[in-house]
Amino acid sequence: MKTQSYRNLSRVFLMLMMTVHVVTWYTFGVQAVGSIGIEAFFSGLSRGVINAGVIFWILVVLSAILLGRAFCGWFCWFGGYLELIEWGIGDKWKIKIPRRIFLYLGTLPFVALGLKIYSSLLVIWIEKGFPSIFTLRLADVEPWGGQQTGISILMTAVLYGPVLFFVFGRRAWCRYLCPIGALLKVFSPAKIGGVRLINDECIGCGKCNRTCDMQVDVMGDLNGHSEVNGLDCIVCLKCTDACPTNSIVLSLHRYDTALTSSAAGRAELSTLKRRKISALDISITVIWVGVSLYFFFSGARATAPQEIKVIMSVGLLLIVYGLVWTIRKTWAKFRQRR
Ligand code: SF4
Ligand code: SF4
Repeated sequence: MKTQSYRNLSRVFLMLMMTVHVVTWYTFGVQAVGSIGIEAFFSGLSRGVINAGVIFWILVVLSAILLGRAFCGWFCWFGGYLELIEWGIGDKWKIKIPRRIFLYLGTLPFVALGLKIYSSLLVIWIEKGFPSIFTLRLADVEPWGGQQTGISILMTAVLYGPVLFFVFGRRAWCRYLCPIGALLKVFSPAKIGGVRLINDECIGCGKCNRTCDMQVDVMGDLNGHSEVNGLDCIVCLKCTDACPTNSIVLSLHRYDTALTSSAAGRAELSTLKRRKISALDISITVIWVGVSLYFFFSGARATAPQEIKVIMSVGLLLIVYGLVWTIRKTWAKFRQRR
């Protein structure tokens, strides 16, 4: 069976397990193990409770030390949903935006993660003190709790899925907004295994770069380090599947090999194209981060209904991108006329 089939199976299995979990909890009253959501993790830690969420996310962090963001590529149900709709829609209708913008938008999940840790953990520890003891209570948080409403779930599915995909490409949520992705990125540099170059047969064809949904500079990484060390790599193994010379594999072992000079030359060219920066890239990041911080610290976010919170992250990103893009185009036309 192909690697991608195993990946699809793992996510279908996880979704089935989640469904079974919710049904047994609410229908049959079997309430032994509670939510494994990230909210349960923060809630448990802030109150000194080792619940199912705390245990689950500690395991996920340990997996990041072993294989980087493999959780995102193999087990995240939302990532699976994104790939499903992207596969259904195809690339035909996508709006093309400069790839270099990805360098800067990649900072956004860290802002989201910082705000999450601050509001869900630090503020509570500062107010109530760090818990003196931690008690084990697996069923501490119910699996389908929280502030989600039917409309907010629908909005999340549409905005974070097709809308982000049209404008920012595949798995845009995972690259620009997901705080869990940012959490795993913190631990990824210490990873033991990863996608590695195993021989000197690479011909620099660039198929690995083109096939990567996460826009990782695979060739550039191979050229510099003989392995993929981009923080966005989710170990989906689409690049290893696409490589015509079988030069890259997932491995726990490091190989003493490097690209040939012609492949290295091609890799450098492709990296150069990505590294160009523009005022547009920086403006979008600065404005988005500034407006998000303002909403957060002014208290507007805390009191907003769930539906508004859903719109705020994606909506702001789109509005800011649209504004800066329009200003830039108008300015270019104005200069042409002068
Ligand atoms: S690693 Fe494989 S897919 Fe990537 S450039 Fe080399 S030959 Fe092509
Ligand atoms: S670099 Fe390869 S394994 Fe990593 S996300 Fe891209 S295609 Fe998947």
